[in-house]
Amino acid sequence: MARLDEKLLLNELRSLGLQVRPLNIEEVAAPEGLGEVGVIRLAARSRVIPMAFTYEHSGGVAINNAMSLILSHDKYFTYLKLKEARVPTPETYLVFGREAAKEVARRLGYPVIVKPTDGSWGRFVNLVKSAEDLESLILQKAAMDSHMHLYLVQEFINKPNRDIRVTVVGDRAVAAIYRITNGDWRTNTARGGKAEPVKIDPELEDVAVRASKAVGAYYSGVDVVESERGYLVLEVNGVPEFKNVQRVTGVNVAGEIARLVAEFVKK
Ligand code: ADP
Ligand code: ZN
Ligand code: MG
Repeated sequence: MARLDEKLLLNELRSLGLQVRPLNIEEVAAPEGLGEVGVIRLAARSRVIPMAFTYEHSGGVAINNAMSLILSHDKYFTYLKLKEARVPTPETYLVFGREAAKEVARRLGYPVIVKPTDGSWGRFVNLVKSAEDLESLILQKAAMDSHMHLYLVQEFINKPNRDIRVTVVGDRAVAAIYRITNGDWRTNTARGGKAEPVKIDPELEDVAVRASKAVGAYYSGVDVVESERGYLVLEVNGVPEFKNVQRVTGVNVAGEIARLVAEFVKK
């Protein structure tokens, strides 16, 4: 619990008069010794879902809930949920091999994006410009790791040099920032670049809130790109960082999340 996000959240929870016990994950022997309501703020994805399930198994509450974390951690599951909810998102296919990848890429038209179902920070997200490049990428991946035979092949969105990160709490978009790059088409803040506040318009709020609800999250960070067809959702983060959003917009995001948590404690 050393990160700034968690410190901000802890302060806000305490200032609402809630009793909070920060858990040191190294000392946890699940399923014993946890409280009723767990705010899951772990960075390591492999730990997030087991902890959420543990809170839920005896009638407790995990924020975010286990199912929303499963869905949001997997870009293919998220894609299916967004489609069901008619939330606009780039056209995407899950393929398991070279032939299917090439067939789908031909149909989408080059360039295409090829990315793993479970990545983050823009790692292993590739812009693929031709069938030859796709071929060598797949051969290279197969040689590196025989288990990486799952790929998402996605329509490339020719967006401005920025993405939008919308923080959704409950059924409101509480704050949003542009993440602006210095050249790289990947605009994760972790890769450098600047952030600027976004004035949230009704369409942006609608798309982001519906995306968050599509995976069943209580709160989330929704990544949105601007395209010729309007806003498109790239992904939903179930354990979103918000310190940058808070710093850039001046919105007390931690306070908003704390109030949401307080609602669950009351119930
Ligand atoms: P990660 O979970 O690693 O952040 P993303 O799917 O969000 O994976 O991709 C990382 C970045 O790559 C995005 O923030 C965006 O700037 C860029 N990107 C991803 N998919 C596309 C796409 N289909 N078209 C254009 N840019 C994309
Ligand atoms: Zn991600
Ligand atoms: Mg992303």
